[in-house]
Amino acid sequence: MKNLSRRSFLQNLGIGTGAAIVSAALPAFNTVAAKKYDGKKLNIALCGLGRYASYLAEGLQTAQYCRLAGIITGTPAKAAAWKTKYSIAEKNIYNYQNFDAIINNSDIDLVYVVLPNSMHKEFTIRAAKAGKHVIVEKPMAITANDCKEMIEACKNAGVQLAIGYRLHYEPYHVELKRLGQEKVFGQVRLIEASLGYKAGDANEWRLNKALAGGGPLMNLGVYCVQSNRYVLGEEPFSVTAQFGPVTNKKLFSQVEESITWQLHFPGGAVCTSTSSYNCSVDRFFAAAENGFFELSPAISYGPFKGRTSKGELNFPTINQQQTQCDEIAKVLLAGKQLPAHIAGEEGLKDMKVLQAIYEAAATGKRILIG
Ligand code: NDP
Repeated sequence: MKNLSRRSFLQNLGIGTGAAIVSAALPAFNTVAAKKYDGKKLNIALCGLGRYASYLAEGLQTAQYCRLAGIITGTPAKAAAWKTKYSIAEKNIYNYQNFDAIINNSDIDLVYVVLPNSMHKEFTIRAAKAGKHVIVEKPMAITANDCKEMIEACKNAGVQLAIGYRLHYEPYHVELKRLGQEKVFGQVRLIEASLGYKAGDANEWRLNKALAGGGPLMNLGVYCVQSNRYVLGEEPFSVTAQFGPVTNKKLFSQVEESITWQLHFPGGAVCTSTSSYNCSVDRFFAAAENGFFELSPAISYGPFKGRTSKGELNFPTINQQQTQCDEIAKVLLAGKQLPAHIAGEEGLKDMKVLQAIYEAAATGKRILIG
């Protein structure tokens, strides 16, 4: 097996060699060239200044191809604090009411929607109508129909739509994808991928169905489904699923506390996952005909740790948010089409699977995924 070391990965990035070698097997996973870029940067406005927007803002501080140029917030105190902290021009600061005026602001190229899930659709469509490219956080929306409307709105406006799938540019996950899709250990037969943490704040929007669309499946399970799909390079055709017990009725009156499901893939793989708000779990394990590969931690912001049946995986720890934004910005600055694995259709595919998982858990039946 070709086990990329830290050194060879850096070489593939072009760091230290000046060369930008991109894996032929993974053409969609471009890498950031080492040479300092001094052309135009893509100007990004973050919409919704919560916890994850703060991670993105920090990542953007070291980005080469894009910068934090604007903000959209419903909290005046945050507008003032972010303006000072990130030197944001007053004319690039909006609230949710005056946001549409961004159409007249040529300083902003892209709006990055980091709002609660049910608000993704409205703000993606408003940004598209204002002529801005959009990155929208996961899950893309709360229904497949909403995803379709978002894709359509961006298409009609002639702007591009990306999903904030940060792991598509993360070296351990690029390797998982290679190991699975190139069948380095033969056909993958089984994947176990789970993500969970303990939720404790009853006022958190993630426990409110109208805002979140669902519980840990929407928030965390989407990453498990994603990893299954890109490691196998296939779409699941059916699913069985079970809700876990409700141990805290106060917290979980609207959304599930935990859920477990089994996805069936055409190549013969079965993928079992749990997403949970009542325990901490962050792992990925794939068993193939002739070996295995695994990560734990696997899906969080890292640092990741992994091995295969042939030995340890050893890749650099990167800033996932910076890398993701840079890679998307590079494509948009070059006037090219975003690769399919990061575009709106990808979010729609995941949402169809999530809906089928909920249906399977609610009915107790095996659901075909159309
Ligand atoms: P937070 O609750 O920390 O922030 C959400 C922000 O949205 C708020 O701070 C607020 O910003 C704004 N907002 C507007 N209306 C509401 C409302 N009714 N209730 C709550 N907030 C509102 O959430 P996160 O930042 O953790 O999550 C935001 C999105 O990012 C979600 O879709 C989530 O799934 C995604 N995410 C993705 C991650 C990833 O790994 N890719 C990791 C974490 C989250 P303001 O005060 O500026 O108006």
